[in-house]
Amino acid sequence: MGDRRTALITGSTSGIGQAIATAFAGAGHDVVLTGFGDPGAIESLRARLERDHGVTVRHIGADMSRPGEIEAMMRSALAGFGAVDVLGNNAGIQHVAAVDEFPVDKWDAILAVNLSSAFHTTRLALPAMKARGRGRIINIGSIHATIASPFKSAYTAAKHGLAGFTRSVALEVAQAGITVNAICPGYVRTPLVDAQIPDQARTRGISEDEVIRQVILANQPTRRFVGLDELAAIALFLASDAARSITGAMIAVDGGWTAQ
Ligand code: NAD
Repeated sequence: MGDRRTALITGSTSGIGQAIATAFAGAGHDVVLTGFGDPGAIESLRARLERDHGVTVRHIGADMSRPGEIEAMMRSALAGFGAVDVLGNNAGIQHVAAVDEFPVDKWDAILAVNLSSAFHTTRLALPAMKARGRGRIINIGSIHATIASPFKSAYTAAKHGLAGFTRSVALEVAQAGITVNAICPGYVRTPLVDAQIPDQARTRGISEDEVIRQVILANQPTRRFVGLDELAAIALFLASDAARSITGAMIAVDGGWTAQ
């Protein structure tokens, strides 16, 4: 294995994925960014990571709900870099509705992006990892990988599924130098969450600070958001040699949420 390592993080044009991709670039990995967004903003992120960290960074704009696009993405990444040493399955979407009113297309999309995409990236990344005798697969779960909330049936089903997938693949590759884990965050302040705050404040007639403490963080005992820096640090640790015996684990980073 050469010295250069490559990290492919899905959904890394925003939020948690971007923070993790940035951390891996900072640690000297070549990086494949994936995800949607304004092309100019994505290109400036890509160029900034290359400039700041002296690594190669590519963006591949594949749709994680489409297996054919995932295959093309993985083929292109493997051809360009030889292997994906660190695979971060992070792309995710949400929809909140009662199960008997849940739009069928939203159910299918959530299962495809939040669960099945990890199957496709994993099955396509593993052969090169096995050939190198080393690999790290880091899935971004959620508290909803282990507990449930009403009106989030698709998200909870997908994240519970991702937990089972993580454990099963971890067992399959346990002797191949490859670890497979899930980081399970509580609420993290990303554009996704930010967008809800002003609406909630208006609807409930309370301040944005009150929305954060009384609504969003009501079940998060620390009453503060999990920091992007915390998740990036754990991902880096999981990719290190020191974490070689951590596999099949659901790592809760939820301010005590699931301890209740
Ligand atoms: P985000 O909306 O900021 O980022 C999501 C990323 O996924 C973006 O880059 C987006 O372009 C990409 N994406 C969405 N659909 C895609 C598709 N079809 N194909 C390709 N890329 C697609 O969200 P985030 O808050 O950073 O969430 C990232 C992950 O963390 C998700 O899996 C989410 O479930 C999980 N998570 C988030 C929180 C939170 O509080 N923010 C908590 C627990 C778990």
